[in-house]
Amino acid sequence: MNFIDVVLSSGQAPTFTYLDPSATLRPGDLVQVPFGNRRIKGLVWETHAREPDFATKSVDEKLLERPFAPTHLIDLCRWISEYYLCPPGVAAGPLWSCAGKSTFVRLGLGKRAPSKSKIHEPKPAPEASRRFELNAAQQAIATTLRAALDTGGFQPFLLHGITGSGKTAVFLDTARHALDKGKQVLILVPEIGLTPQTVKRTAEALGERVATLHSQISDSERADAWTSLRDGNCRVALGPRSALFAPLFDPGLLVVDEEHDGSYKQNGDSPRYHGRDAAVWLARRCSMPVILGSATPSLESWHNAKSGRYGFLKLPERAAGALPQVEAVDLREGRKSTGSSISPRLRTAMSDTLAKGERVMVLHNRRGWAPQAECLDCGAAVECPDCPGLRLTWHRESSRLVCHHCGYSGPLPKACPACGGRSLEPQGWAIQRVQEEMERLFPGHSVVRLDRDIASKKGGHGLAMDSFLTDGGILLGTQMIAKGHDIPDVTLVGVTDSDIGAGMPDFRAAERTFQLLCQVAGRAGRADLPGMAILQTRRPDDALLRDVLAHDYESFAARELDTRRILSLPPYSRMVLVEASSEDPASAERWIGKLAATLRPVVASFGGAAMGPLPAPVAVVAKRHRMHLLCKSSPERAGDLRHAVVEALVANPPPKEVRAFADVDPVDVM
Ligand code: ADP
Ligand code: ZN
Repeated sequence: MNFIDVVLSSGQAPTFTYLDPSATLRPGDLVQVPFGNRRIKGLVWETHAREPDFATKSVDEKLLERPFAPTHLIDLCRWISEYYLCPPGVAAGPLWSCAGKSTFVRLGLGKRAPSKSKIHEPKPAPEASRRFELNAAQQAIATTLRAALDTGGFQPFLLHGITGSGKTAVFLDTARHALDKGKQVLILVPEIGLTPQTVKRTAEALGERVATLHSQISDSERADAWTSLRDGNCRVALGPRSALFAPLFDPGLLVVDEEHDGSYKQNGDSPRYHGRDAAVWLARRCSMPVILGSATPSLESWHNAKSGRYGFLKLPERAAGALPQVEAVDLREGRKSTGSSISPRLRTAMSDTLAKGERVMVLHNRRGWAPQAECLDCGAAVECPDCPGLRLTWHRESSRLVCHHCGYSGPLPKACPACGGRSLEPQGWAIQRVQEEMERLFPGHSVVRLDRDIASKKGGHGLAMDSFLTDGGILLGTQMIAKGHDIPDVTLVGVTDSDIGAGMPDFRAAERTFQLLCQVAGRAGRADLPGMAILQTRRPDDALLRDVLAHDYESFAARELDTRRILSLPPYSRMVLVEASSEDPASAERWIGKLAATLRPVVASFGGAAMGPLPAPVAVVAKRHRMHLLCKSSPERAGDLRHAVVEALVANPPPKEVRAFADVDPVDVM
């Protein structure tokens, strides 16, 4: 007898077993199956001969001649389900959403008429000024990568190239070679790196149509991109994490650009997969090379390269221009007297730069107008009613206090909640207030702001960048501006507060701060004009900052890895974080306490640990009390650890009032 397990497009968590009388169905085929008294589309997940002990219905029909998705993508979903501890229906979620709803129409399975294609066509050859030959260092690496494609087989590479070293040119050259061999190419970029410029540059460099898959395209654009990849009419897919599920039937190369970027890990809802790690898995499954590129690699990838598990490729010099000179400005000297977000040193440098007709980028990593509303009588700051302990941010254009954790918003209270005083005032500097100050300080120069409030409007990101490119002047932004932009006449970068990560109870805070500062400094002086970066700080002697000033990733990584080894933190250990939350604080704690009691002896038997229950660092969000149980093992026992967590979760299902999830290799531990 032939049975198939099917994941349903309607999103049910488990798979369902049906009979396949034809015995021809394969994983990845799209079928219609009876479900209750409905007819539902589903994907064949697995075929087998294990007869269930209940009556099995037959599949209605196979809906498409060719498979809907290639087998390796079904295998990827199955791996995600197993590795990230989520049911098949959840693991298949990104596959369905990558295709989108209109795709069924496009495939002739719906009623509406298909609309026109909007795939990015390459323009005629790029202008001569932007064309160049690979330099010797790039050429050497390109040769290695081309050879890897010729040999075939799974080969992971870390391409560590400083900012502006020309990594992009190298992986585009490799992509070209893969295309010449008749293969398809998948390029992953961080969420925010997917700008129209990136798409255009890729299409031009490859002389190919490029299908982009991301959350901001319309459903019909998505259907175009998806079907043309599936049909092989388009051979290049470009997108963020979710583009991993692009239906490439004949992939030959995978690239993960800015592999360290936090947006590769899905947070917030399941499946909580890491796009980079899943990409490496997929490359192994498809026996192809994968290139992880970054100027500031994740310590996990760095460790893998150092220990020989990944091929290690280095571009230590800029392709054009030189690295910017980076200096620190000690804010403790003289800021009080100026009452400004910009030190005299940064201000002078900005004036000089603007006077020369060059451009400035400034990082200020806080949205809103003021980071808090403070009582002038008692000094208390207004906190979110739903997230006690978290301060509300003042947004002036809407005249509201907003919680950046849960989205609460409300008016400025008339009286101080702590002392009843009547003198609550927005205090401190958030980005919109810095913008106002800059507009005052540098009249006649445009100050373009780029943050999530701007970028979340449709096309907002592109509009802001366009206006910066045409009007010049100053680009003031949150961490969004640190990535990917390659603007030749930006010669000065300023950072208003470089001490962002200091004191955060997150073991990756130092890594993230280093990456952010290096990346943003790296925006300066990328062409012929020399660049400079000025970092304002209250901790000028900090070792991390000194490494940023010296552009010394290796020194930073060596020191940070030492710390991680001593504390047995990743990459020297592996983690699974279990989080439980409930409105009443006792329920979450009680349940996770039970889970901990079950897990502790099991985990201890292979040298691991289950730490908790502990309140999450951000203990209450949107009225829910959050409790953590952090489970840890040696890398060798990571499989046992995941297994132990699953068993414990099965043995202790959470009560109704408790929301719980497990996060494997967590990135956000706050
Ligand atoms: P990365 O991705 O490493 O930050 P890019 O690939 O964006 O670097 O390259 C940085 C800049 O150097 C770009 O403006 C690019 O056009 C230029 N560039 C790259 N390779 C060369 C080369 N071989 N000769 C001249 N310019 C180059
Ligand atoms: Zn809140």
